[in-house]
Amino acid sequence: MTETTKKDCRRITIFDTTLRDGEQSPGASMNLPEKLEVARALVELGVDVIEAGFPIASPGDQESVREVAKVVQGAAVCGLARCVDADIDCAWDSVRYAENPRLHIFLATSAIHREHKLRMSQEEIIGRAVAGVTRGKAYCSDIEFSPEDASRTEIDFLCKVVEAVIRAGATTVNIPDTVGYATPQEMKARIAALIERVPNIDQTVLSVHCHNDLGMAVANSLAAVSAGAGQIECTINGLGERAGNSALEEVVMAMRTRSDFFKVDTGIVSQRLVPTSRLVSRITGLAVPRNKAIVGQNAFAHESGIHQDGVLKERTTYEIMSPESVGFLKSDLVLGKHSGRAALANRAKLLGHELSPEQLTIVFAEFKKLADRKKEIYDADVLAIIEQQIHEKKAADQGVWSYIGYALNCGDDRRPCLVLTLSQGDEKKTIEWEESGGPIDSVFHAFQKLVELPLILKEFKVEAVSSGADSQGEVIVILEDTQSGVIRRGHGVSTDVVEGTVKALLNAVNRTVTADA
Ligand SMILES: [Zn+2]
Repeated sequence: MTETTKKDCRRITIFDTTLRDGEQSPGASMNLPEKLEVARALVELGVDVIEAGFPIASPGDQESVREVAKVVQGAAVCGLARCVDADIDCAWDSVRYAENPRLHIFLATSAIHREHKLRMSQEEIIGRAVAGVTRGKAYCSDIEFSPEDASRTEIDFLCKVVEAVIRAGATTVNIPDTVGYATPQEMKARIAALIERVPNIDQTVLSVHCHNDLGMAVANSLAAVSAGAGQIECTINGLGERAGNSALEEVVMAMRTRSDFFKVDTGIVSQRLVPTSRLVSRITGLAVPRNKAIVGQNAFAHESGIHQDGVLKERTTYEIMSPESVGFLKSDLVLGKHSGRAALANRAKLLGHELSPEQLTIVFAEFKKLADRKKEIYDADVLAIIEQQIHEKKAADQGVWSYIGYALNCGDDRRPCLVLTLSQGDEKKTIEWEESGGPIDSVFHAFQKLVELPLILKEFKVEAVSSGADSQGEVIVILEDTQSGVIRRGHGVSTDVVEGTVKALLNAVNRTVTADA
């Protein structure tokens, strides 16, 4: 983009709800330290508003919103509340610690919700909405109001609600497509109608919150922006209820790459998109599909010979964005057996991890071990080592379980015989285990016996981290604690699938042990 066009660009507010709507994805729940890590990454990414949670939902949610509010600087921190006094008071009690607090109050307005869920008339809805915004305004100047299911609300009534809440002090009015039903043309028309018909609309920022049930969340968000909306609500990797929300990385790069068309921009540091996507994927255990736009591993991989030839001659023949602009590194193949500490530290830094000298020592030792087993070490391998080490260090500091080693004797003519050693804090524990199932079965049962938890292995998956037959494998497990019903994902990386399995089980169990919510 040239400087002259940049000046003409309208600035769109990016409201990230990974920690609230994203966390509502089945299996994506995060504990407090994980939420804080994501919040810090979102600040570095340059989002304007972080929706940190729904405080009234549970004491854990309340605490995490409060802690996020305390650490975040720069971005506004928002808490969600239904349009009732107790919710609004509780949300304020959590976000009040923020440098820039925001309250987000919602109330359903569509006929379906009014009649079946709320059993309230249109007048009662307006009265309740105004009362809620007024109560919030007494606490906080930055108030967002969402008429839930707005895309299915009669437009005349929606205009009345929006006008009333703006008069009561709503500084942002968000139009949610709660059930993912709208089409881009309808969304555009709806935003245009609000701008034309609501007399005080210039006193608020119009926002959209689109769900992806029909795969139109990003298109709907962009349509709203082209009609004049000033804020998009979205999540990293498109996480969220059901099919998820508008994907932050996609709406941002669409607006940036096609600024000639949309004439808007955001404050997002696009080079942080891939690292943030990886972080959220690692923490939630929800893998990013390889062909995912912007952040998928294959998003910039040219397979056709004609395309490769074209890109080598002139990048723009087949590339509309550069991989570096969204945070992929230029060259991938990097290190080998003879690479030194400094080269590793430098690569780690390029990958977004500034390692302390102590961290570097541990990561370097693991790197050398891997280099003995594997000739070429890729960025994905380096990242896997760093993430695993950081996690294990954290686990050791918290006195939870960590991995020591194993020996396994198996074959198609004998029962697997396993010796597994783990430590809990300073204490080492070993178990010898023999059974008639396969080796992974026996690892799981021995592990379960050792940690003494009533676990069921719900899912087990192995994926290659990089390419080649000597690639590291990433093992992903989902465990259910049959006593508490808690479900936890874990992942572990190794060139050895048994070791990877034990590490994944440990990761899942440690997340359960240290979970706050
Ligand atoms: Zn939602």
